[in-house]
Amino acid sequence: MKRFQEHFDEEFIRIASKALGMPESKITGMIKRRVLQRISRFLPEYYRFEKGISGVEPGTTLFNLVSDIEIVKGFPKIHRAMVLEPTIQAHFKGLPLVAIEEKMNGYNVRVVKIQDQVLALTRGGLVCPYTTEKATERIGLEFFRDHPDLVLCGEMVGPDNPYVPKDIYPEVESIAFYVFDIREKDTGRPITLEKKNELCERYGIKTVRHFGNYPVDAVARIVADLIRELGAAGHEGVVIKDPEMNLPALKYTCSESTNSDLQYAFQFYNDYGRDFFFSRVVREGFQSVEWDEDGDALHERSCRLGESILKPMVETIRKRKRGERITENVRIRVSNIKTAQQFEEHLRILGIDAQFGEPLYVDGEYLVEIKKLNQSTNDRTDALLNGQFW
Ligand code: ATP
Ligand code: MG
Repeated sequence: MKRFQEHFDEEFIRIASKALGMPESKITGMIKRRVLQRISRFLPEYYRFEKGISGVEPGTTLFNLVSDIEIVKGFPKIHRAMVLEPTIQAHFKGLPLVAIEEKMNGYNVRVVKIQDQVLALTRGGLVCPYTTEKATERIGLEFFRDHPDLVLCGEMVGPDNPYVPKDIYPEVESIAFYVFDIREKDTGRPITLEKKNELCERYGIKTVRHFGNYPVDAVARIVADLIRELGAAGHEGVVIKDPEMNLPALKYTCSESTNSDLQYAFQFYNDYGRDFFFSRVVREGFQSVEWDEDGDALHERSCRLGESILKPMVETIRKRKRGERITENVRIRVSNIKTAQQFEEHLRILGIDAQFGEPLYVDGEYLVEIKKLNQSTNDRTDALLNGQFW
């Protein structure tokens, strides 16, 4: 076998070391350990932090430009409140007002301008060709010509979503981008919510719903009411924020959304991490106690949870028993057929085994069905059905 020779770009390491305030040896070490990964198929080439390290968020991307680099910080983790009242009180203590925004359910995207291109980065810091096409068409360069140092952080939602397909917003026919934060590219520091909303309005960019700013003491009760309404409508939940964005945000989600995640993921029970399932079951426990459920309400919640876990799994086992393959079916809609080819390559980089169907030309766009093969669930189910031990 040919020995793989890692190529180190001395110039990049030198500039990155200065920009990140880290010794060059540390950068080299991270590249060797593949914490910092070089993506050279893309122009301009870039490096991304697959994991976070001291002071650098995971998903941070470093674009390697001629004798310069541009840093786009990763999007920070949002902490989850398991119970509303005490968590909101403790976390936002001393603030005059707290903002409640809708938590939209899609995938996290950061849109930036690098040189003269609008690029869309997914959570892990990779440029997604599909999302980039959408962001270029829907947002364009206007905002970035005036604000080249800002990042639009938002959620891509809609049925033509190749990562987590969800058809829960009737106003979104294909896929749409809703901004929730605007941050500085190189520091990741957010601007205030008021400035964010004002800027987005000025440039005609959609934002997530803002339900208002309320005194800390009132927030838990308002969120509890809102959550029931959002849940009934199939929406995901809320994110509670300091309007000045000095404190980190908190998230809280609806039981209906938790159940719909479980229903989806249990079809592929061996492909999703165990923590995905466990944390969702625990959420249901805490919500039930905070909402003081007993008798019928608790019975109903228990049945709903049980069905969300068992029914999709039973269906998967039955399908496999009949010899059917377990696949996750998603679709994309592209204006340029080249985008679909680049997206196929992108999924390969992510290690996802996917089959792309024949493109269907509809109203000036190509609709492409994608079947992602959930190898682990297929194999495990076969093995167990054939008498192997758990
Ligand atoms: P984490 O942020 O904790 O790593 P995760 O990737 O599991 O979480 P979620 O549980 O969906 O994601 O919650 C956080 C995500 O919610 C954000 O990364 C963002 O993509 C999304 N989001 C949707 N609406 C908002 C909003 N209004 N404000 C902030 N984030 C939002
Ligand atoms: Mg999400």
